[in-house]
Amino acid sequence: MPQSGQVMSKDGIVYSTCPVCGYIAFNAQEKHCDNCGEELTEEEMHKNGLTSLDSMIRMGQLYQFIPEDEKAAVSFEQPAVSEDGYTLDKSWRPSVTKAEVEKEALQYYENRRTHHVKVEIIKKEQK
Ligand SMILES: [Zn+2]
Repeated sequence: MPQSGQVMSKDGIVYSTCPVCGYIAFNAQEKHCDNCGEELTEEEMHKNGLTSLDSMIRMGQLYQFIPEDEKAAVSFEQPAVSEDGYTLDKSWRPSVTKAEVEKEALQYYENRRTHHVKVEIIKKEQK
């Protein structure tokens, strides 16, 4: 598990920097990030057909940084404090590149469209 610098304690839980999202929200005991929800366990790794925690982290980051809005540009800028009140570790850097996120985003939007079309077909059939 790559551990970059910062540690914070909240409600008796020790949080370290989440390798996926960069917020100090990673619960090392449960191997789970309370900010992005990523679970970094061997079990999850095998379930996703991956062979290393590094590839899990990269995979998590690709999805983390895909903009919901298809027209928005990929950005690694994140607020200093997350919506849930976790602090961003300023020394953290993503391991993926913007080009990699953009590539994954195309696939994601494509899947979303396909899925959306399927939903519409099901609805029509029910009428
Ligand atoms: Zn996280």
